[in-house]
Amino acid sequence: MEDIFEKEGEVIVEAENLLQSKVFSSFADEDLYRKLLAQYKRLLRQMRTMVKMSDIMQSKLNSMSGELEQLSQIDGLTGLYNRRFFNETYQKEWNKAVESQSTLGILMIDIDHFKKYNDSYGHLQGDKCLQIIASTIEDTVKGPNTFVARFGGEEFVVLLLDTNVKECTENAERVLTNIEQLNIVNKIDSIDCIVSVSIGIGYTTPDAEMKMESLLNVADQALYRAKKDGRRCYR
Ligand code: GH3
Ligand code: MG
Ligand code: MG
Repeated sequence: MEDIFEKEGEVIVEAENLLQSKVFSSFADEDLYRKLLAQYKRLLRQMRTMVKMSDIMQSKLNSMSGELEQLSQIDGLTGLYNRRFFNETYQKEWNKAVESQSTLGILMIDIDHFKKYNDSYGHLQGDKCLQIIASTIEDTVKGPNTFVARFGGEEFVVLLLDTNVKECTENAERVLTNIEQLNIVNKIDSIDCIVSVSIGIGYTTPDAEMKMESLLNVADQALYRAKKDGRRCYR
């Protein structure tokens, strides 16, 4: 590391040489010079320590701000990206898709009768269920062109880049199947059912005139239809 006190170090060497050469006219002068030099050396040591500490603090701050940035992108319960980071990513990918005229897909995934699951098994068990479903969705759609986030509550969103309707529906089908295969029991009105999800699919090739929210609205309306059509399906 560069010594920013190199010049001061040289001054000390010169001053010590001067003391050795006995050029002082009186003992009092030499004594004063010796004391001043000792004080100067002490000050320089303290300065070096302070600079070292500030370097350490700087690097600690850098790594903490990296961690904070990571934390603010991640949902604490599921480990998926959070809504805030989804919004940022969605905006960026929307703009890229407008430029490259490629197709974006959205899967809006909502757990069926999740309130009843909480009511039957408690909120903590509900949290565990959310974690399992989140990682199942993530594993199911994993790939370089997909981005998964917790949209809020018991709702998840998958953004598919450079996609097509076939790919969107295949992913939705696999999510439905893999979640049902978890065989998590949910008591609905005293009947044992299996935890399932409903999925709303939207896709579009955006242009500059279109509003970014329109695709999310389409997926949301499709999800509403899936719920209305009896749940455990995609629309
Ligand atoms: P639907 O099939 O129509 O989606 O019914 P639902 O019961 O899943 O939907 P509703 O919106 O009525 O209830 C959602 C429930 O999700 C209520 C809420 O307590 C629960 N929930 C949301 N976030 C969390 C969470 O972080 N942990 C737990 N345990 N439950 C959550
Ligand atoms: Mg919901
Ligand atoms: Mg629900």
